[in-house]
Amino acid sequence: MTDTIDQERAKIVEVAERWKRQYSTNGHWRELLVASARSTVETHAKILACKTLDQVDLIIGNKSWTHNRCSSCSTQTRKKMANFDVNDGEYDYSICAACLRAALDELSEE
Ligand SMILES: [Zn+2]
Repeated sequence: MTDTIDQERAKIVEVAERWKRQYSTNGHWRELLVASARSTVETHAKILACKTLDQVDLIIGNKSWTHNRCSSCSTQTRKKMANFDVNDGEYDYSICAACLRAALDELSEE
């Protein structure tokens, strides 16, 4: 239980760090209003104050910061996915376990 809480806290801090990288440059916040008409810096503080990833979703206004999206079936989940990097970072994609299993089953039928 403690591990789960610690892991969730670590993910909340990770989201806050990504948020800061996305919306600040050299320590200066880019001023634009995001979800709920809060500034980017206010939203950053609210993310850090969250106790759960569900609360982070509500603060940001969508699940994209706390969920992975399968590039094949578009399912959004917090579960791990297989990540593939194409052409040394040109683009990447993620595949959920169900799609990966289906692809492996198809290959094993040959
Ligand atoms: Zn999928």
